[in-house]
Amino acid sequence: MKNINFQEKVSLSNYTTIKVGGFAEYFSKPNSTDEFINLIKWSRLNNQKCRIIGAGSNLLINNIFLKGLTICTKKMCSIKIDSHSGIVVAEAGVMLPTMSNMLAKNGLQGGEWTVGIPGTVGGSIYMNAGSKELSLANNLLSVQVIDTETLKLFEIEKKDINFQYRFSPFQQNNLIIISAKLLFTPKGNVEQLLETTKKNLRKKTETQPYDLPSFGSVFKNPNNTYAGKLIEELGLKGFKIGGAEISTIHGNFIVNNYSANSKDILDLITVIQQKVLQKKGIFLQPEVRMIGFDYP
Ligand SMILES: Cc1cc2nc3c(=O)[nH]c(=O)nc-3n(C[C@H](O)[C@H](O)[C@H](O)COP(=O)(O)OP(=O)(O)OC[C@H]3O[C@@H](n4cnc5c(N)ncnc54)[C@H](O)[C@@H]3O)c2cc1C
Repeated sequence: MKNINFQEKVSLSNYTTIKVGGFAEYFSKPNSTDEFINLIKWSRLNNQKCRIIGAGSNLLINNIFLKGLTICTKKMCSIKIDSHSGIVVAEAGVMLPTMSNMLAKNGLQGGEWTVGIPGTVGGSIYMNAGSKELSLANNLLSVQVIDTETLKLFEIEKKDINFQYRFSPFQQNNLIIISAKLLFTPKGNVEQLLETTKKNLRKKTETQPYDLPSFGSVFKNPNNTYAGKLIEELGLKGFKIGGAEISTIHGNFIVNNYSANSKDILDLITVIQQKVLQKKGIFLQPEVRMIGFDYP
């Protein structure tokens, strides 16, 4: 098979925003869709487990040796923008902040809110990333995927994807996202769009801890309340286990004071869940995805 290019025994801590992670047996950062597809085919044909990482901004990876192939999509970052129709075709590895700024510069409205989300298009569709009532799924037309079992490539229309709050069917099926077709509103005022985008980024960085490694919101918000509010009401902000700390800026963020390992972080997640369940009677469901743990 052509274009198979991977490294062995690579530390994944540099590929997660929380700066924690074990070693991948095989690791690759494909430059193109073809290379990506060949790697997925290689792992299937060689019976190797295949894991995908985007920007690693919603991932807790255990400090263990992870057998199989880990593919990081970040170099697959080609994007085509049609400023007349508003149609955007983005490879899975395109970063949302990059896309957000490009949309504004092209007068396309609707992506200004994504500027502060340090994830890729693929990861954001998989997670159904969003903010309040907004989510990337709102702008989605279709997704190009590969089935890791049959190795068939096909396109799924948005109407056939059952998105829910921080959930997409990709969390449960065998499909890997290769690229996405999105639609934004054309002919917007470029200066205004750039200004709103800048303002949104400022607001995020002022209200969330962007100066320390984290993975964004740890827990999904329960019905009718906010996970961060519940954690704050219990006086848990600033509570630490090893190098992992509940942010003093935002209760639903765990930050790594540069010495945390995956156990510190998982223990802290468990303590928060226990305390919130005991005192508030609510079980907090993690939003963060876990790799290499026996976590349900
Ligand atoms: C400072 C900060 C702020 C954040 N703010 C927000 C916010 O406002 N709203 C929000 O929703 N999230 C937020 N997040 C969380 C995170 O950025 C999003 O969930 C983002 O969409 C994850 O994208 P990613 O590329 O980093 O995915 P990763 O973390 O790399 O992966 C997440 C999951 O997606 C899977 N995946 C990734 N790419 C693919 C693919 N191509 N095909 C199939 N599966 C794939 C992975 O296997 C993994 O299970 C924030 C995070 C940080 C650190």
